[in-house]
Amino acid sequence: MKIAVLGAGITGSTTAYALADKGHDVTLIDRQRYAGMDTSYANGGQLSACNAETWHHPSTLVKGIKWLFAKNAPLKLDLTPSWHKYSWFAEFLYAMRSYEANTVHTVQLALAAREHLTRMAAEGGFEFDRVNQGMMHICGTQKGFNHGLKVNKLLQKGGLERRVITADDIKSTEPTLQGDFVGGFMTDSDFTGDIHKYCRGVTAACEKRGVTTKFGRSVVDLVTKNGVYVTYEDGDQDHYDAIMVCAGVGSRAIARKLGDRVNIYPVKGYSITVNLDEESQSAAPWVSLNDDDAKIVTSRLGANRYRVAGTAEFAGYNKDIRANRIQPLVDWTRRYFPGINTDQVVPWAGLRPMMPDMMPRVMKGQRPGVYYNTGHGHLGWTLSAATAYMAAEMVD
Ligand SMILES: Cc1cc2nc3c(=O)[nH]c(=O)nc-3n(C[C@H](O)[C@H](O)[C@H](O)COP(=O)(O)OP(=O)(O)OC[C@H]3O[C@@H](n4cnc5c(N)ncnc54)[C@H](O)[C@@H]3O)c2cc1C
Repeated sequence: MKIAVLGAGITGSTTAYALADKGHDVTLIDRQRYAGMDTSYANGGQLSACNAETWHHPSTLVKGIKWLFAKNAPLKLDLTPSWHKYSWFAEFLYAMRSYEANTVHTVQLALAAREHLTRMAAEGGFEFDRVNQGMMHICGTQKGFNHGLKVNKLLQKGGLERRVITADDIKSTEPTLQGDFVGGFMTDSDFTGDIHKYCRGVTAACEKRGVTTKFGRSVVDLVTKNGVYVTYEDGDQDHYDAIMVCAGVGSRAIARKLGDRVNIYPVKGYSITVNLDEESQSAAPWVSLNDDDAKIVTSRLGANRYRVAGTAEFAGYNKDIRANRIQPLVDWTRRYFPGINTDQVVPWAGLRPMMPDMMPRVMKGQRPGVYYNTGHGHLGWTLSAATAYMAAEMVD
């Protein structure tokens, strides 16, 4: 089948690879000049089955409401009326009843993704600054720790082992980390890596397998007629037997053109990449961290880069990098790792393509030849390699 994959973020690039694996004639299209330039550029770096808990627990909702009124809180909501935003929140509340089932399902997807992701990198022969030092949740309050114990049961149900650790264990596991903690959780099997490098690597591997890439081409229209006509901004048109939509936060608008409703909201997040000088390299951690109270995640990307990411902002499609959202990430780094020199910090903002139930959509559209693999929200790096193969099997 001659199939176009729309979007070359982590979702689209892995899906193109999986479709080529199944013998299809694949074209990977993106408006950016290179793969992995949008949300799949400078995220938290975690391939984290241990982060599978959806945000639908009542305690998360209560925390969220408190954060709305706190300065520098990890959650920010622009209250300007918008049908998109409020319909999304209504569906989010409805999805609370599926909290347990969706959390367990997310763990299962994350575990399945690990194998595909590792194999694709090995077959493609590319590096992505992978670090296998495990992932540690650190809890500053007893309440947070107790909630983590409950989450452990769901993770276990999904097949993931996450160990309970003491405050002393935290110190011995990551001696560079300063501060006092009640306790935490350790997931030895989770790992980290640079999502952008992976997208570039897997796209190069796709090209070697015969995938055509069309980068720097923005898709402005789609018409289904004996397949799908794809129109670019310069008026050029291509015809394909089918289209696979992997357009991140652009998927909602694309779906609308195809007669489908995919209610993705762009949930903005920020990251900093600290360039580590020689002295800072020994002061920065190798174990990946999840600070449950501050909602911050961190990854070591090779010897000389440290990534710190967080915050969820509901403010539409803008990607402005706001200084008052970056500062808490810098302050957090200074507080817990005082030995890291933060004079070289690269800020970034990206939009998580989030469905109200926080579950990715691998599905057929209403019209023939239309498929979706999108809506991976806060866990696209963790889940995409699994949904890529689910999507390819759906096409078969
Ligand atoms: C701050 C932050 C931290 C995060 N941390 C983690 C983490 O630690 N672990 C994890 O698993 N996930 C994390 N995520 C989530 C993860 O980064 C995303 O889920 C993932 O990158 C989404 O990938 P995608 O391919 O769906 O979208 P994208 O990467 O945005 O790719 C979509 C592509 O479609 C293209 N496109 C859209 N519309 C069109 C069009 N009309 N024509 C042509 N091209 C088009 C875009 O140019 C883009 O390249 C984080 C996200 C953020 C913001």
